Amino acid sequence: MGFFSWQCKGCDESIKAPYGLTEGTQWKNEVVMLMPNGTCISGDYDGYGSIHQPELTVEIEYGSPGEFWHSRCYSNANGPAYTSPSDSALDQGFFDGDPLAGIRIRPDAPKPL
Ligand SMILES: [Zn+2]
Repeated sequence: MGFFSWQCKGCDESIKAPYGLTEGTQWKNEVVMLMPNGTCISGDYDGYGSIHQPELTVEIEYGSPGEFWHSRCYSNANGPAYTSPSDSALDQGFFDGDPLAGIRIRPDAPKPL
């Protein structure tokens, strides 16, 4: 599976991969994932479907029913319980700011995902 991500339930911005973030946007990489069964997992999102903790990696399948939050947004919302799956991120979690800044699209490039 390629690059994918989700919209944060709190601010409706995407959970970001760790690339290209600045000190001011680093928090967008820290994620909380809630599952319908009550499981709650937090850590850093790698952009390819895994949440990393210091001694644990959690792999998430594309299309999982997870509800995703930025850790900061989740704290600000006082840690609500699971309600529904998060939407897929339109920007796949990669681009912060202008979605076309710093990339070039070639006509023969394979379609993402
Ligand atoms: Zn958020």
